[in-house]
Amino acid sequence: MAGERILVVDDSAQMRDFLANVVLLGDDYVVDTAEDGAEGLAVALANPPDLIITDQAMPQLSGLEMVEELRQAGHDIPAILITAEGSENIAVRALRAGVMDYFVKPFDATELQEAIQRILRAARVGNVRTGVPDQRRLEALNTLIAIGKSVTSLLDLEMILSRVTEAAVYLAGAEEGTLMLVDSETGELYVRAAKNLEEGLRSMRLPVRDSLAGRVVKTGQPLFIGGEGMQKIKTQYLVRSLLYVPLKVRDRVIGVLGVHNRLVDRPLSQEAVGIISALADYAAIAIVNARLFAQSEAERTKLSRILHQIQDAVLLVDYEGRIVLCNPVAQKFLDRAGDENPVGHWISDMTDNVSLLDLLDWSTGEPPKQGEVRLGDERIFNAQVSEVQGVGWAVVMQDITHLKELSRIKSELLTMASHDLRSPLTAILTYIELISRVGELNERQAQFARQVKQSVQSITELIDDLLRLNQIEAGLGHRQERVSLPQIARHAIEAFQGQAEVKGIRLRLEAEGEVPPVFGDPVRLRHMYANLVENAIKYTPQGGEVRVAVTEEGGEVISRVSDTGIGISPEDQPHIFNQFYRASGVTGKYRGIGLGLSIVKSIVDRHGGRIWVESQPGQGTTFTIVLPAATMNEDEIQSEVGRYRRS
Ligand code: ADP
Repeated sequence: MAGERILVVDDSAQMRDFLANVVLLGDDYVVDTAEDGAEGLAVALANPPDLIITDQAMPQLSGLEMVEELRQAGHDIPAILITAEGSENIAVRALRAGVMDYFVKPFDATELQEAIQRILRAARVGNVRTGVPDQRRLEALNTLIAIGKSVTSLLDLEMILSRVTEAAVYLAGAEEGTLMLVDSETGELYVRAAKNLEEGLRSMRLPVRDSLAGRVVKTGQPLFIGGEGMQKIKTQYLVRSLLYVPLKVRDRVIGVLGVHNRLVDRPLSQEAVGIISALADYAAIAIVNARLFAQSEAERTKLSRILHQIQDAVLLVDYEGRIVLCNPVAQKFLDRAGDENPVGHWISDMTDNVSLLDLLDWSTGEPPKQGEVRLGDERIFNAQVSEVQGVGWAVVMQDITHLKELSRIKSELLTMASHDLRSPLTAILTYIELISRVGELNERQAQFARQVKQSVQSITELIDDLLRLNQIEAGLGHRQERVSLPQIARHAIEAFQGQAEVKGIRLRLEAEGEVPPVFGDPVRLRHMYANLVENAIKYTPQGGEVRVAVTEEGGEVISRVSDTGIGISPEDQPHIFNQFYRASGVTGKYRGIGLGLSIVKSIVDRHGGRIWVESQPGQGTTFTIVLPAATMNEDEIQSEVGRYRRS
């Protein structure tokens, strides 16, 4: 029937002309044109055409939106949609809006003409909605959606690839299909999955540079070759009709999905481009998902293997106190778990181990950082607690039972040896005193006797220091009372006035303003000042100055012991608090064994304080000690002291 009105809507003048002049040439249709969706809508509303051929992507109102609005306005006008890319999303929407056919650019003009004739023919006999092509497309789309859903939920790469290839062959009604991926190392395409492809071709590799599939990788565009009576095309194999679509992840092409007819002399349909492109989109997402899943699985397996094999106990507990992770060594601490997997249970339900529960008790605010945890069989573990942001607290515990045992043996040995050494040393000292009483000594004999006495005194000091350090580290006999640091410092200094005078050193105490008390052991704190002042006098030349200042700053009591002595080089400064460490250049010139500062450091630590040194070689040294003031309440001080002792 002639005289039917067709409305062509396209924002490209070239495309409008093409559709109007070339496509409709030869048929006796009346052609109206509109330059965009809005104009198309207005024209169609004013004078409804028999068919609309519309571009999809247009400014303001897309082709689909225009058709949807017309439907809402009660105009059920058959339409053909022309899109730049085949997307399953658009296809489904188009079908719902009553679009009878859609073409993906570039398309075959003859096929469009056939579609126009078919649709108008159906309209003439009142069969628009139930047209057979519509049914077929609906079926294809449903299949596509079902495949899409199933492959994107799959995590097994092999299965995804073979299902996609099979689906492509089915949807395109093709003879065979291949899914090729780009080998990231060689840059070549290799067949990763195939359907009905003969065995010999499965191992083929194609260069991206000059192959048809390679062109799809390079351009990122589908490639459709075919048509009735088509000559055989030579790719790696002879085909009559072929469709390759890219597998794209963002803008990168990771492979090519292809369907072809080799033996059957039947062309593939242009419509397959949209459907197979949509399938390729699904496949690309599924491939990426599967790869990511495989990667994270591999990482997870590696981590779990490490956690299972390490000798340390690793336990992760969330902020509420539920177990998130627990390796076999840590499981030994969960005495109430039995054979049950403890993950997800409250830690307090899984163990009665008080030392572990105490360590994880952060009800007081800040959680502890370090502590010792005992296991039922008398093993002792050193535990570090650290926060895993957003997850909870991780406890890592190392077995230190043998170290504890060694430490105990060392302490016992030290106590025994010092006891056994003291008696003969006392005897030596006594006899040296007696020598001079039983008869006059000559000058040299008197000098030797003095040297022996001095050496014995050095050994006694060393033993005293070692014992003291041992006791402080073991936390033995530690007293806790409110004490005044300026007072303790004064007593300590008084004992050294004589020594300072001998060297012509000015020794003074400065205690500015009200200094609040601290909570601690007066004997040990006195020892702390004594060691620092003794060092200051020892390492300061004749005529220098040694100053002890005690002040209060921001709720803390600050003590500074400074001198105008030889100073400590920057290289030595980090090590001087280590046991037996002496700065370069002092050995032989100054008496000492390198234990004084480590004793000071241990005392400061025990009191929850901090100590550091500032020094300029040749100019002098200042040691600064910061201790929490007892203005805080007892609990606050205890928690401060506890915090520093643990760290
Ligand atoms: P020592 O018995 O050697 O004095 P300490 O542990 O008391 O041992 O000090 C360690 C080292 O730190 C000393 O050997 C010395 O090199 C350096 N040192 C400590 N105090 C001072 C100071 N006031 N001036 C210069 N050097 C010092």
